[in-house]
Amino acid sequence: MKKIGVKISALLLSASILLVGCSGGGTDQVKKDDGKLNVYSSFYPMYDFAKKIGKDKVNVNNLIPAGTEPHDWEPTPKDLVNIGDSDVFIYSGAGMEGWIDKVSENVKNDKMEMVEASKGVNLLSSKEEHLDKEINNDKHEHGAYDPHVWLDPENAKIQMKNIKEAFSKADPKNKDFYEKNYEENAVKLDSLDQKFKDEIGKTKKKDIIVAHEAFGYLCKAYGINQIGIEGLSPDSEPDAARMAEITNFAKKNNVKYIFFEELVSSKVSDTLAKEIGAKTEVLNPLEGLTDQQIKDGGDYFSVMEKNLNSILKALN
Ligand SMILES: [Zn+2]
Repeated sequence: MKKIGVKISALLLSASILLVGCSGGGTDQVKKDDGKLNVYSSFYPMYDFAKKIGKDKVNVNNLIPAGTEPHDWEPTPKDLVNIGDSDVFIYSGAGMEGWIDKVSENVKNDKMEMVEASKGVNLLSSKEEHLDKEINNDKHEHGAYDPHVWLDPENAKIQMKNIKEAFSKADPKNKDFYEKNYEENAVKLDSLDQKFKDEIGKTKKKDIIVAHEAFGYLCKAYGINQIGIEGLSPDSEPDAARMAEITNFAKKNNVKYIFFEELVSSKVSDTLAKEIGAKTEVLNPLEGLTDQQIKDGGDYFSVMEKNLNSILKALN
């Protein structure tokens, strides 16, 4: 009997190995036993930063699929199971992941490192008007803080540091590797920051009109103002009064470009641009890249360089 029992469990074991081997990619792929850290990230910048720090020592799975706007996304029960099976789970925090309590409530895994990447960032209150003094837009805002911390390169550095520390804790034998990758990226972030300072410092105009108020930290870092067609989350169409306010502001300040973003409909930006005779241009809040952008090798640095060029167009 014993022998048969062993045989049966051996059969079951090989069958389950086969099943694991056949499972698909993306978030279906739960745990790989290849000696690498299994990492889950909430949305694009966290995914990109995790890849930059972990490189080939980590498997990074991004929860929010390419091309999806993250503000209203919610995890499925399966996503929660996958997070619970991971070694490290990275989220940005400051209210960006409105669903984070679901993870703390449902995931019981003491070995999992849960990283709030924005920990240590000097957070902006969502009630602050981000130097947007002429137009009061606080009715669109929710949450205590502005969650878009990653759009200031110096904040991105803090986020990468937190990720580096979590990887080192979960996988101490590769500590030096994670440290080196962090240092390299920190140097790149500092020079990106300097470039923004130098270039934006030379412009006379200081106002940009954006699709939603994702650029509060960036604006604060470089002394510019954002006027958001939407508030902190792109979740509603602006009303007629708001549109009229922005139109007046744009005319008065000779605004030449209205920014839109690829993951949200550009209808309102188009209407506004037509109304005031301005052009539209992409300003990417990095909340998600499209499949094509990922295929083309886009990342935090390439998108931020493009963003700087777009901002300079509007301010010159
Ligand atoms: Zn946003």
